[in-house]
Amino acid sequence: MRKPIIGGNWKMNRGIPSDTVNMLKKLIPSVKKVNSVDIVIAPPFTALGSAVEITKKSNIKIGAQNMYFEETGAYTGEISSLFLKKLGVEYVILGHSERRDIFKESDELINKKLKKALSMKLNPIVCIGEHLEERDAGKTKEVIHNQIHNTFKNLTKEDLIKTVIAYEPIWAIGTGKTATPEQTEEIHLFIREILELKYDSETANAIRIQYGGSIKPTNAKELFEKENIDGGLVGGASLQADSLFEIIKAADATTK
Ligand code: PEP
Repeated sequence: MRKPIIGGNWKMNRGIPSDTVNMLKKLIPSVKKVNSVDIVIAPPFTALGSAVEITKKSNIKIGAQNMYFEETGAYTGEISSLFLKKLGVEYVILGHSERRDIFKESDELINKKLKKALSMKLNPIVCIGEHLEERDAGKTKEVIHNQIHNTFKNLTKEDLIKTVIAYEPIWAIGTGKTATPEQTEEIHLFIREILELKYDSETANAIRIQYGGSIKPTNAKELFEKENIDGGLVGGASLQADSLFEIIKAADATTK
């Protein structure tokens, strides 16, 4: 059985350390008894140190929203996996659609980052997903197939299993439009089919696939009840402790 994972992607919000700490101080006691869901919070880089410190004795893990694949050197503005690791960060989100679209990150670049994260024993959450025009043109599966093929290129099955995939249809991110549980389940099954062909059925069944795109307390339950949806990557609704806790509870309920 796959353990659901809920990630809170705070994007460029709550980057002032005291702001992060205040939110986490509310979340920590409420999730204390949740042990069947992995909980990951990804604040901006500036608040990572404080987030690691405040969550040390809790069941919340801290993730970064990005990293570069080199360890040190002349890469102005970049943050390496080594720095994250030394800070006590355990997860890293890679290839978010905002990184792909705004900062022009390619599958090839994400593949390099992914391999580096894995070699540094950071747990990667890799985002994939189609634009609205691609869905409307009936190209969703082609896009997903290509992203998986390129982003996971030359990855061993041992490494693949350590990776979390976040299926995030771009038209559903921050728009209030959620993919239906049925639409999501179809794509998650398709992802497992691709991975079964590329690796084997054991690997395809072991990997966790989250959904992301306007998850809220009101729609979380119906999404997480689907067999192939292993939790979610949450943007807007992860900024407040109350709404995030409701979403975590919905994931927890599917394990009972
Ligand atoms: C995200 O940024 O990964 C995301 C899914 O955002 P939202 O929940 O706000 O749509």
